[in-house]
Amino acid sequence: MSVLDRFQLDGKTAIVTGGNRGIGNAIAHGLAEAGSDVVIANRDADSGREAASEIAEETGVETLAVSADVSDEDDVREMVEATVDEFGTIDILVNNAGIVLAEPAREKSAEDFRKTLEINLTGAFLCSKYAGEEMIASDGGSIINISSMSAYIANHPQTHVDYQASKGGMEAFKNQLASEWAEYGIRINNINPGYIETDIIANLLSDRPDLEEAWLDGMLQDELGDPDDIAPLAVYLASDAASYVTGTSVIIDGGYTVR
Ligand code: NDP
Repeated sequence: MSVLDRFQLDGKTAIVTGGNRGIGNAIAHGLAEAGSDVVIANRDADSGREAASEIAEETGVETLAVSADVSDEDDVREMVEATVDEFGTIDILVNNAGIVLAEPAREKSAEDFRKTLEINLTGAFLCSKYAGEEMIASDGGSIINISSMSAYIANHPQTHVDYQASKGGMEAFKNQLASEWAEYGIRINNINPGYIETDIIANLLSDRPDLEEAWLDGMLQDELGDPDDIAPLAVYLASDAASYVTGTSVIIDGGYTVR
């Protein structure tokens, strides 16, 4: 088998939470280009359906759109059931859905703090728990969490202590789950992006345009990243090319965290 053959995902099924836009959408496209059928799972039904049919048209794989809030256990259970009904199996789960709430710590409500953890971290747990049962039943799979460089650093000069807590937690979550589920052939890895141009970043910059200059000052590469910079690593981690890779985290940040 050639090196490139090991990246092929033909016959696999992937769920990408938040696959309707941003980083999740680029990853969903990438997995489909590598041959995987793709389930787009997010809250907004219209954009989920649109993304799913666009990917099917462009790549020829089968797709499904499921409306689900990842912090709602019933929604997650139904998302997994719908996937298994349609495709019979789940081989790849990308826990990508996430939010940023930008209030400073002193103004942050407990409700907002909990909301960020519920979506960014509990959501990843719930999706892993239910999709993981299907992976265990079919001899394994690959779970990829979209964490952040924020797991390791304080972002400056903006403020989102709840986001930091959620992404820091995602590192420990990944380590433990990789350890518990290695025996089932499930690999669990994190991708830790830096500043990538999506709606999250656009929203932060619309309130505080000054942030961009501060971010660019801190980067080795003088530009924000693109969602397409993240997708190739997701394809690698999902595929047999990464069969000996589990419990790890990979930063993609244009050199921000080393400066
Ligand atoms: P976007 O705002 O473009 O996309 C966020 C996605 O998450 C949307 O698809 C949204 O779906 C989905 N989502 C949010 N809440 C829920 C929920 N409760 N249930 C289901 N889906 C939900 O952001 P990004 O693409 O930038 O972010 C994707 C991930 O990447 C996040 O986890 C983020 O923390 C991480 N990340 C992003 C970085 C960046 O610079 N952009 C840097 C580091 C990490 P819907 O449209 O239905 O609301």
